[in-house]
Amino acid sequence: MPIPLSIKNDPLLSSALETLIDGGRISKEDGSYLYRNSELPGLTALARMIKQSRYGNYVFFNENLHVNTTNICTLACRFCAFRKGTRHNDAYALTAEEFASRIEPHYGVIDEVHAVGGLHPDWDIENYSKIYELTKSRFPDISIKSLTAVEVKHIASRSHLSIKETLISLKKSGLNSLPGGGAEILVDSIRDRICMGKEKSSEYLEIHAIAHELGIPTNCTMLFGTIESIEDRMTHFDKLRVQQDSSNGFQCFVPYPFLEDNSRLPEAKLASGEEVIRVIAMSRIMLDNIPHIKAYRMNIGDNLASVAINSGADDIDGTVGHEEIMHDAGSTANVSYDSAKLARLILSSDQEPVKRDSTYTRFEYVNAEPIGERLDLPILGQ
Ligand code: SF4
Repeated sequence: MPIPLSIKNDPLLSSALETLIDGGRISKEDGSYLYRNSELPGLTALARMIKQSRYGNYVFFNENLHVNTTNICTLACRFCAFRKGTRHNDAYALTAEEFASRIEPHYGVIDEVHAVGGLHPDWDIENYSKIYELTKSRFPDISIKSLTAVEVKHIASRSHLSIKETLISLKKSGLNSLPGGGAEILVDSIRDRICMGKEKSSEYLEIHAIAHELGIPTNCTMLFGTIESIEDRMTHFDKLRVQQDSSNGFQCFVPYPFLEDNSRLPEAKLASGEEVIRVIAMSRIMLDNIPHIKAYRMNIGDNLASVAINSGADDIDGTVGHEEIMHDAGSTANVSYDSAKLARLILSSDQEPVKRDSTYTRFEYVNAEPIGERLDLPILGQ
């Protein structure tokens, strides 16, 4: 693979590339330095090289549906626009039957239901087991990707079970994987300020490690653009890859920025579009042992997602169908994509769409026409 000039001409990026070619790892300190001091085109070119070396032009997506179980939550994370108190007019808690009825119209098309929610004060393991068992009995082919680490902790505590017992039981009921939400920034001093009461960084990692040990694959996430520093972001990357070294069950890393809202977290240092792309590129460079990096379209929108899949990301979420958490926070991303439309978005970004299943075990190449007309600009001198 030829080395782009934007890398060759930059000693920092050339040195990072050499380290990676030699099988080395970019340290947290070097990551911070690279983040601050490299030009964006070179940084994204390096991340893209890594992505291309693993997957060529392929970009993966799946046909999924987001269903939120409840928006009632005993916590009040400062960035969260989704949670409601029990008496709020818009508070809801789906029964198993209601949950299944949300899936019904999409059955035969989607391969995964993505289900997270708040920490309902009255829900224990019985509620979740009912939801998963009914879903599997009606829709046996659908993979259930559900529960943030703090939901697992809440269910365990409400049910007087250990984390391991909780996950074993939920797996028997039909839970297939964890989506990885709630990592925020894995630095406790930041968590104490933005999501007081949530699990500690070490608990997030431990819950995922237990899931991996039980054969439950998980994703991992990062919410950035709140109050964290660049060093905190590098610490986050480092903790995830160290965890992956020992438990090896993270499938995909999903970074997303905090969306501006004056009423929540007014001191947030919001991430610009350039910063979003810089974070995605750095994640591909730093997370050498996590297979996939996702452009989370629900949060960053189609335009940035299109740049992201040329800047290190190899996966894009998804057909989605319905989404509340990011849309309550201000996202306007289109939720009603079908497979062909998503494939066209990927093609129009000069990448090749590959439909995958929920756990990256089945793949299918998708043919579609790219969106929009090709714009042929005149070439000077011709
Ligand atoms: S982020 Fe999750 S745990 Fe925090 S308030 Fe919102 S729903 Fe509750």
